[in-house]
Amino acid sequence: MRGSLRISVFPDDSTDAQSLMQHAEAALHRAKINPLHEGVCFYSEDMETNSIARRVHYTQIKQAIVHHRVVTLYQPLVNALTGETIAVEALMRIADEAGNLISPIEFITLAEEARLIIPLGEQMISQALAQLKVWQSENKRIRLCLNISPIQFLDPHFVPFLLHTIDQHGVQPSQIELEVTESLMLQNLQQVIRDMTQLRDIGISISIDDFGTGYSCLSYLKILPVDVLKIDRSFINQLTIETPEEPLVQAITQLAKGASLTSVAEGVENEFQVHRLQEFGVSLLQGFYFSRPVTADKIKTRYF
Ligand code: C2E
Ligand code: MG
Ligand code: MG
Repeated sequence: MRGSLRISVFPDDSTDAQSLMQHAEAALHRAKINPLHEGVCFYSEDMETNSIARRVHYTQIKQAIVHHRVVTLYQPLVNALTGETIAVEALMRIADEAGNLISPIEFITLAEEARLIIPLGEQMISQALAQLKVWQSENKRIRLCLNISPIQFLDPHFVPFLLHTIDQHGVQPSQIELEVTESLMLQNLQQVIRDMTQLRDIGISISIDDFGTGYSCLSYLKILPVDVLKIDRSFINQLTIETPEEPLVQAITQLAKGASLTSVAEGVENEFQVHRLQEFGVSLLQGFYFSRPVTADKIKTRYF
C-alpha cells in the first residue's frame, strides 16, 4: 500500500489550525495526483488559487447535477469526400445559475476525480439518446458519438445503465458510437474487452478518441474490438502550408486503413487541411471549419 503525506508549516503557511488543515488538504491533493511528488507535498501559495477554483467548480458540478443543468451541444462529422454529415459528437457543458455555459475543460478532470462524471455522464447520455430518438423518428439517419470517461466506463453500472437507456428511448444501438481514450486500456483490460465486446455485439461502435496522445501501445488495437480512430487535434494542427506532409497524420490514416478502421480527423480548421486530409484518405472530418459545437436545433437546420 502507498501513503501520501500532506505538509503545511506553522507559522509560514498559516497561523490558525483550521487554515493549516485546509492548506494541508490542498497539499495532499497535489501529492496524490502528481507522481513526481512521490506521495509527499508541501503547501505552496499557488495551491490556494487552485483550491478556490476547485471549490467553485465542485459546487457548480453538484448544482448542475441536482438542478439538471447539464447541456448537450453537437458537432458534425462529415464524409471527407462528399461533405455529407454522417455523425454528430455530443459535447457536454454545464450551465451556472445565470445560464452561462461552462466548458468541460474547466470541470471534467475534477468531475472525474470526485466520480461526479458518472451522474453528469448519465444525464448527458439520457439527453443525447432522447435527441437521437427525435432524429430517428424524423428519419434522419445520423450516428451519435458519446464521450465516455474511463471512470464511467469502468463503473459496474455503466453497461446496464446504457442498455436500459437505449431501451427506454427505443433507439437503434447501431447508431451509437462510444468514444474512449487510450488511458482506458491501462486499467482493467479484461473487463474493458468483455464490456466492449458485449456492446459491439448489439451494434454499438467503439472509437479511440485523441488517438496518438496516450500510451499508443499499438498492440491493443489487435485485441480490442475497435471501429474508429480519431486522430488528435494536435496532429491536425501541424498540417500547415509549411509542413504539408505531417507524417503522423499519414501514418495513423494508413494504420486505420490497414486495420479496416474508420479514421476521423479532429480539429479541422481550414480548407488547406481539408484538401490534405482528403489526399491522405482520411474517412471523416470534424472541426470548426465545418461547425463549432451547436445546439440540436441548429445542427438540424444547418446539416441535415
Ligand atoms: P474531445 O472528445 O476530443 O472533443 C473535441 C474537442 O475539440 C471539443 O472541445 C471541441 O469543441 C473541440 N474542437 C472541435 N473542433 C475544433 C477545432 O477545429 N478547433 C479547436 N480548437 N477545437 C475544436 P470541448 O467541447 O471543449 O470538449 C473538450 C473535451 O471534454 C472533449 O474532448 C472530451 O474529452 C471532454 N468531454 C466533452 N463532453 C464530454 C462528455 O459528455 N463526457 C466526457 N466524459 N467527456 C466529455
Ligand atoms: Mg470526443
Ligand atoms: Mg478528441
